[in-house]
Amino acid sequence: MSLGMLRLFSIFIFGVTLLFGRHLDFTLIKKGDPNSTNVLLVVGGIQGDEPGGFMAASLLSTHYKIEKGAVWIVPNFNFYSIIKRNRGPFGDLNRKFAKLKTNDPDFDLITRMKSIIKNKNIKMVVNLHDGSGFYRTKYIDKLHQPLKWGQSSIIDQDNIKGVKYGNLKKISDEIVAHVNKNLIKKEHEFRTKNTKTHIKRTFEEKEMSKTLTFYAINHGKAAFGNESSKSLPVHERVYYKLLSLEKFMDIMGIKYKRKFPLKPLVVKDIIDNDIFISFNDKKIFIPLSGIRKKINYFPLEKGAKFTFKPSSPVMTVLQKNGKYTVYYGNRKLTTLVPEYLKYDETDNSIKVNIDGKIRDVRFGTLVSVKNYFNVRPDSRYRVNVIGYVNKKHKNEVGLNIRKKQIIRRYSIDKYGKRYRVEVYDAKFKKKFLGMFLIEFNPKKKKAYSIVALNNFLKSK
Ligand SMILES: [Zn+2]
Repeated sequence: MSLGMLRLFSIFIFGVTLLFGRHLDFTLIKKGDPNSTNVLLVVGGIQGDEPGGFMAASLLSTHYKIEKGAVWIVPNFNFYSIIKRNRGPFGDLNRKFAKLKTNDPDFDLITRMKSIIKNKNIKMVVNLHDGSGFYRTKYIDKLHQPLKWGQSSIIDQDNIKGVKYGNLKKISDEIVAHVNKNLIKKEHEFRTKNTKTHIKRTFEEKEMSKTLTFYAINHGKAAFGNESSKSLPVHERVYYKLLSLEKFMDIMGIKYKRKFPLKPLVVKDIIDNDIFISFNDKKIFIPLSGIRKKINYFPLEKGAKFTFKPSSPVMTVLQKNGKYTVYYGNRKLTTLVPEYLKYDETDNSIKVNIDGKIRDVRFGTLVSVKNYFNVRPDSRYRVNVIGYVNKKHKNEVGLNIRKKQIIRRYSIDKYGKRYRVEVYDAKFKKKFLGMFLIEFNPKKKKAYSIVALNNFLKSK
């Protein structure tokens, strides 16, 4: 299969209703110079129960700009196993790179990954894992010992002759040194682990010959495994992975710009809070930070294709029993219970008085409100503020609406701050014009969060 036949996305757009998660495909994101012959390939999510790996790959794809050279990222290689939170529903993908039967359910995935790895412009491959415990060269205790994998940079051999960046041991030691300069705790120290795969004597070594990195090495590519410890919270694993990846880029002379300060708690904030999704050509926008488990009467278009745009390549929507569930890596964020309506595309914004100032509010956006808002009267509109009850009015245009007038449990977030304002055709009850969200007294946002939100809203 040629590279051209692969689905290549620079931004990820999904237009399919996925009935069965097992059809979830991986994404190949190409960043930087498209003509570069100095490409780093980063693979995340080869095993779905290793979130440090696929969350780091996701952040690398969304929160870094590559200014020289190129980085190709497959953040969600075994996407189905990520959603399922297991190692691999059809077996471990990282043991399928040697021999594989053509009727193996993962045959297609593996074949396509092999053809990516073989691309002549790729000069280095890094496969991201989370491993158990803490690798140590000598036995210290059960958790810290030679049989553990956590906090290590993995090589299959010290050198590959005649290959660019073939001095694997030296490079790996540089990664380790860089990580160790930035430890949260001494226990987290990194070490190089050489699996000596080419000698293939023990069972473990034989197992290693079936891995992605060993395949890469045998096709003339420098390749590394990178393991953060499963004993650490996910954001700390991601922190260590990003430190490692930045050093790999430095070594290759790949220039990048990071859009946030690399600190463990910032990484946590980004993973938990800078997450968004929009639906049906951005008609509806939902920030997913603190989202409620279920959102009822979600206005979807009757008879039309359901489309969505996630902020992360490890985010997707699966349909089951007529409901839509938003998944984000190993997390199930929310389930949308649809109400099917007719969509009307005439308007894409509406005039709203926000705290005394008239503004043109686009559908599919979020507006901050301090005291009140008031959708300007227009005979064409019927407005429904979800959770606002006023027996005198069926239509909420022209009313000053304050937070205390809205029933808290109707907020889309668990903190009672974000509410839906839905606009319908005044004459046709079931004709939906659009939705925007209001957020009462939002917390002051960090600079990197504002950038993330604006980039998401601006992107196609
Ligand atoms: Zn792994």
